[in-house]
Amino acid sequence: MPHELPALPYAHDALEPHIDKATMEIHHGRHHKAYVDNLNKALAGSPLEAKSICDLVREIATVPDNIKGPVRNNGGGHWNHSFFWKLMAPGAGGAPTGDLAAAINAAFGTFADFQAKFEAAGLTRFGSGWAWLVVNGGKLEICSTANQDNPLMGKAVAGCEGKPILGCDVWEHAYYLKYQNKRADYLKAFWNVVNWAEVAKGFAAAK
Ligand code: MN
Repeated sequence: MPHELPALPYAHDALEPHIDKATMEIHHGRHHKAYVDNLNKALAGSPLEAKSICDLVREIATVPDNIKGPVRNNGGGHWNHSFFWKLMAPGAGGAPTGDLAAAINAAFGTFADFQAKFEAAGLTRFGSGWAWLVVNGGKLEICSTANQDNPLMGKAVAGCEGKPILGCDVWEHAYYLKYQNKRADYLKAFWNVVNWAEVAKGFAAAK
């Protein structure tokens, strides 16, 4: 059963003006699709074809060496982007509420402190990667990973660990058409489309 590109949960232009239509078309329809296609190619004929994308990412250390690189990059890319689309929504943004807001304040001080730390994680990731908010051992933490690595891959592989509840793609393909080299502006604009209801669902499930 090959992995499939999930449909975007909204129209390509739904996140305008913060994330532009052309970026969404290319990001979802070409970049994410390429991760899915290349993952299927890497897995063809392997018993790992039957594994869910979640298990593949979690168990990346056990993937045979001859396909580990492509599965790490493309499996990570598939998981990360499938997660990312759902974390954004048209007319979203604002601030979290309830248990999640309380946990963010407890871990980082204020919501603004949290935003500054998350933006810094994205900005200081040299080259391509992701900024993450994770639940690790019951606590909220911010970290970043390189390339398409993911905290679910574990600290030894990805450099950080935990269950991601928010992620921001800081590859240039995520922002270059609209923001060019200004990653900081893209990270600031990201807050306008964060689907906090979805983040809160992930937080409740991860606790
Ligand atoms: Mn991307």
